[in-house]
Amino acid sequence: MGLARLGRRAAWRSVRQARARIVWLPAPPVANAPEPLDVLVPRGRRADIAGPWRFIRETAGVRARSVGDPPRLPVESTVLDLADARDAGEMVGLVTTAVQRRLTTVKRLRQELGQRARHRHRALLGDLLADVEAGADSPIELRYLREVERPHGLPKGKRQQSRSGLPYRTDVDYDEYGLIVELDGRAGHEGVGRFRDMDRDNRHVFVNARTLRYGSYDLVARPCGVAFQVYRALVEQGYLEAFLRCRRCIAATEADLFLA
Ligand SMILES: [Zn+2]
Repeated sequence: MGLARLGRRAAWRSVRQARARIVWLPAPPVANAPEPLDVLVPRGRRADIAGPWRFIRETAGVRARSVGDPPRLPVESTVLDLADARDAGEMVGLVTTAVQRRLTTVKRLRQELGQRARHRHRALLGDLLADVEAGADSPIELRYLREVERPHGLPKGKRQQSRSGLPYRTDVDYDEYGLIVELDGRAGHEGVGRFRDMDRDNRHVFVNARTLRYGSYDLVARPCGVAFQVYRALVEQGYLEAFLRCRRCIAATEADLFLA
């Protein structure tokens, strides 16, 4: 039996004895079960059972009510607790994964955040939830929205929608301008996934769309160059607005941007 499973069983037993609430997700957005496991204990209750977990005294009314038996935290409480203990970058991954896997919703996370008097990343979380609600549901899609599309004044693409004629959802679709942007930050774009990407690019030809495809490296190392390339592709299809310079590319020439 794996340690995490053993810990979980033991923690469940301790839950009954201590009437504690354990931090537990049915399909956790973290790769491995944490060690120690956090066990929340109501104030005034004793909990001194040895094992691979950590007891945390909990103030009443801060988190949402328990669910299930043994009593567990709802997913949104757990996500906010975990986010509170992590840096901003890790928080983005946690929140997007929890929503993408449909473990919780933006609305429920926002309600839970509203109930808390303090959260380390409150302002950032508010912005993040708004962007996830707009359809950017993975870290790379958020980065594209925040570092590429928005600061360079590009038109707002349709996110995670299915164009007629395509049996899947595309990452960002500028359908008015016949351009689909695919973002390959997630697993699944190697091996068999590469053939699926090729198939998608081919299919896009038949729905009158060109494809631009970017990976995490592009978005981290040269977001302004990506923005300019997308802009040029849009202009070729009739887009008439100006390209805005962000603080990074304010002094760059068009030639610099094209090569970036
Ligand atoms: Zn820029």
